[in-house]
Amino acid sequence: MLKVLKFGGTSMADAAQYRKIRDIVRSDPSRRVVVVSAAGKRFADDNKITDLLFLCYAHLQYGVSYDSILDMIRERYIAIRDELGLKTDLEGEFDALRKRMESGISREELVSRGEYFSALLMAEYLGFRFIDATQWLYFHYDGAVDQEKSYAALQKLVGSSCAVIPGFYGLMPDGKIRTLTRGGSDITGALAAAALDADVYENWTDVSGILMADPRIVENPKTIERATYSELRQLSYSGAQVLHEMTVFPVREKNIPLNIRNTNEPDHPG
Ligand code: ASP
Repeated sequence: MLKVLKFGGTSMADAAQYRKIRDIVRSDPSRRVVVVSAAGKRFADDNKITDLLFLCYAHLQYGVSYDSILDMIRERYIAIRDELGLKTDLEGEFDALRKRMESGISREELVSRGEYFSALLMAEYLGFRFIDATQWLYFHYDGAVDQEKSYAALQKLVGSSCAVIPGFYGLMPDGKIRTLTRGGSDITGALAAAALDADVYENWTDVSGILMADPRIVENPKTIERATYSELRQLSYSGAQVLHEMTVFPVREKNIPLNIRNTNEPDHPG
């Protein structure tokens, strides 16, 4: 039995959320492969790391100092690391990133770093292997995912191990980093689940499944217990924010059930 889990930005927002994730992963030995997003919002008017990275790139492009933004990003991750007592050399990682920025980093590479740092920390915290997205998620030149090559690469890398993988990006044939569209870690999770023929793809977020209404507007909306792939695709395509609209395709091809779960309410079946 193998479960592939994906944790979204709010699930990765701070050290307290990492603790919840560790409890979730440890409570079931089949939860062996974990895909993560960049740190998201901790509270309503907080910043998402990916948004800050985009902002950093805009500053870089226009020759305006990005130091204070990069420092905010660095501090968020260092705070998580220190609170959890981890040792990942983030200082070294951020020095290397700054050098890349000084020598002409691409926008896609820069904005992918949120997922990269999240995965480094989560891998150390869970004691799982870190598998970089550039080691298996391959794109064709037209930007479509090369499923055959990617699936074969991930199968070989994971084998029977436990792994953490950054979402949202992969590698172009010319060796450059390419990102998926915003919210794309959902797709990475679905691709990983399909690659590994997982028994279930658990998508962990901050709502307990697909709800009948937006919980920010309607109080306590009911959960839709079950939906077909096509219903789910239509709901996400027409604006239900729970899932990236392209998520269903890889899991539908392999007939893998997709279970939407809440990191803050782990006992809810979703
Ligand atoms: N961090 C990326 C974004 O904010 C991807 C994701 O979280 O799925 O869009």
